[in-house]
Amino acid sequence: GKVRTADSRIMILGMPGVGKSALVVRFLTNRFIWEYDPTLESTYKHVTTVDDEQVVMEILDTAGQEETIQREGGVRWADGYILVYAINDRSSFDSILSLKHYLDDVKKTNVQCVLVANKVDLLHERRVEASEGETLAQDMACAFYETSASDGGEDIPELFHELHREIRRRKMIE
Ligand code: GDP
Ligand code: MG
Repeated sequence: GKVRTADSRIMILGMPGVGKSALVVRFLTNRFIWEYDPTLESTYKHVTTVDDEQVVMEILDTAGQEETIQREGGVRWADGYILVYAINDRSSFDSILSLKHYLDDVKKTNVQCVLVANKVDLLHERRVEASEGETLAQDMACAFYETSASDGGEDIPELFHELHREIRRRKMIE
């Protein structure tokens, strides 16, 4: 049949080790993989159902954190962004806002994003309160999820779907 172009292009960003690949793999396979090559940058094409509609998502799982030209290409390519930090890593939270500003700069707009606080299973190591995540998400005008790629992650599909809805809404008014 005809090759179908993606309905939404989603880029996953955040500091190394926060669980970006684990979240993507959990979404795609509903499995948790403990060790995933931390240097690997991968794109996935995924057909899924959002609100009874079949949609094609392309997902770019990034690695590293340099703001290289290559990264800028990914940023331009994407329609929406999943920004990830880990609740037990304060610096990963502190880096989110400047990341958002960078995306807005490259795209010359207020980009669509979802903020994800991962590793909520590590409650005893918590360094970032849920309320801080909520406040930051409000400031960036995006949805907020606390989740765990390793423990169930029941809400992981929902955060991808929510970003897809936001992307679609934006495309309809443009
Ligand atoms: P990335 O560099 O952001 O892609 O992070 P990875 O997905 O490679 O995960 C980095 C490390 O954190 C790995 O050892 C994972 O097993 C671990 N990890 C990822 N998600 C979770 C989680 O929700 N809970 C816990 N406890 N560990 C996680
Ligand atoms: Mg990774």
